[in-house]
Amino acid sequence: MPHRGQHRARDGRHDADGRHVLLQPLHRVLLGPGLRRRRDNPHGRLGGQHPELRRLPRRRLRPDRHRRHRRHDGRLHARTPDLRRAADGHRRQLRVPRPEEAAAVNAPTDITYDVVVAGGGSAGVAAAVSAAEEGARVLLVESSGSVGGTLSWQLLEHSAGFHDVHGEQVVAGFGQRLVDRLTAAGASPGHVRDDVGYTATRTPVDHAELALTQSVMLAEAGVDVWLQSVPVGLDRDGSRIAALHVHTSHGRRTVRAAAVVDATGDAAIAALAGAPFQNDTTAVQPVSLTFKLGGADIGALLAYLSENPDEIRPGSVLGSGTDDHANVWGLGALLSAGHASGALSLRRTEMHLALWPTRGEAVVNVTRTTGADGLGAAHAVLSRQVLEFVRWFRADVPGFGDCRLVAVADRVGVRESRRVRGVHTMTAAEVGDGTPFADAIGRGAFPIDIHAADGAGLSHTDAVGAGYAIPYRILLVPDPANLLVAGRCVSSTHEANGTLRITGTCFVTGEAAGVAAAMAAHHGVVPAEVDTTRLQERLADRGVLLPTGAGRAAGCGARVGAG
Ligand SMILES: Cc1cc2nc3c(=O)[nH]c(=O)nc-3n(C[C@H](O)[C@H](O)[C@H](O)COP(=O)(O)OP(=O)(O)OC[C@H]3O[C@@H](n4cnc5c(N)ncnc54)[C@H](O)[C@@H]3O)c2cc1C
Repeated sequence: MPHRGQHRARDGRHDADGRHVLLQPLHRVLLGPGLRRRRDNPHGRLGGQHPELRRLPRRRLRPDRHRRHRRHDGRLHARTPDLRRAADGHRRQLRVPRPEEAAAVNAPTDITYDVVVAGGGSAGVAAAVSAAEEGARVLLVESSGSVGGTLSWQLLEHSAGFHDVHGEQVVAGFGQRLVDRLTAAGASPGHVRDDVGYTATRTPVDHAELALTQSVMLAEAGVDVWLQSVPVGLDRDGSRIAALHVHTSHGRRTVRAAAVVDATGDAAIAALAGAPFQNDTTAVQPVSLTFKLGGADIGALLAYLSENPDEIRPGSVLGSGTDDHANVWGLGALLSAGHASGALSLRRTEMHLALWPTRGEAVVNVTRTTGADGLGAAHAVLSRQVLEFVRWFRADVPGFGDCRLVAVADRVGVRESRRVRGVHTMTAAEVGDGTPFADAIGRGAFPIDIHAADGAGLSHTDAVGAGYAIPYRILLVPDPANLLVAGRCVSSTHEANGTLRITGTCFVTGEAAGVAAAMAAHHGVVPAEVDTTRLQERLADRGVLLPTGAGRAAGCGARVGAG
């Protein structure tokens, strides 16, 4: 006779022990009961045997803060009321509310962490995982229903910036660990030749497996993640952010942390705090809605392009129908004909196709607008463009006669919005010259990639040769003093942001912000007071590639054969 748990396990909502999966802590739902066992993390530390211990900080921040004692029922728990409240608040936040709990939804809850990261995209996930691995107790607050950010949910399937034009690797650390994991799972071919020749490599990734893997990595690192939650206000204590007020599906929560990382892309926390922003240009890059077509014969498209070489960017190498992935910028003649015939209302002279030949799939980056009044209006304009392009592909593009729209980005893709005015502002000249910085926290090498706000193509793509150093000070704002910024909203000019915004580089600024935030919390200082030599040493130990001469520059000079 099957027992009750076995019956329930078959209904998909209960596990083999008959427990409702949605009512269990998220780490248990994601990782299963295996999390209870001791296991190694990538940095050789052992996770605690008890799930509650995994959520507690691993390093002593104040002499009495980590002391734990046994309760009468034999379970371990934190001695201090602060940490007990934090753990209770965490459980309340993650549990799906029962109807009878409606009255408690707005009950104020005050929760304390070492580090809060806002935004769960490329930079935010790197920051949160890195801070937790450095021993901090970390909360990640993400406004959408999943981590992954623009790289996952704009369906880009195309990370970039890991190597310079000569094939020397400039980005490793967290970003490389993520790529290695996806490659091992068959969700990425790893770094492959950049067919278009902007730089040596690009890094195709399966967008859904990327987001799921990031979610699992956060859970493994012990990061608490609040989804569908938005910081809506903050309290200041002089020059510090004392507390963030977060709107969650359970009502408002108040979160305190020694350091806050703004990885929202839009510098949303900096805006709440009244931090200053760059005002060097009004010509921000256009927004887009990326979509994916399935059921295509990519070999037929590549054959057409091979017969019509003017249809691809000069200097491109054409992939083959048996490749894992192929990269194409072009189709100018077909696009012009489509616009002339009235099939396409948008005039474009080229488009980006990230192609998965053996899967018959193409990720299409071609839509754009700048003039719409708000994201909702932009979404309507872009949706109309997507639908036009789908019909045009079926009618006019070789190999796409039977294609289907299989996915569209779940959000308007924003290339550029608020950029903070930080302690240092990185300029195009510093990018181009490879200016050395004593406080370098990593490197970048992707060209300055700026899409014209009103033109039909790219306004410019400047090669940056052997890459550039990224100074720590572009992550710091003068006020509030305990705020770090990571990802595309770092302190940079419009032009320099054209390379800093690329995902490989966002992993770099995210990892540095996370490690620095953990160090600031640990030493009881603000991020500007963190010892940058020590920060560089920690980053080098984690596999981050630093410019020669910065820190111990471990791993500098690693090269890749762009295959
Ligand atoms: C159309 C398009 C094509 C691109 N193509 C490429 C490409 O091929 N290769 C490449 O490397 N880069 C590409 N980029 C650039 C790159 O994708 C982004 O610059 C990069 O992903 C930004 O990373 P991020 O972590 O700073 O922000 P994001 O990845 O955008 O993450 C920010 C996160 O914060 C969340 N958030 C926002 N506001 C709040 C808030 N108030 N509270 C909590 N959470 C919040 C968002 O939901 C999101 O998850 C492209 C960008 C666009 C728009």
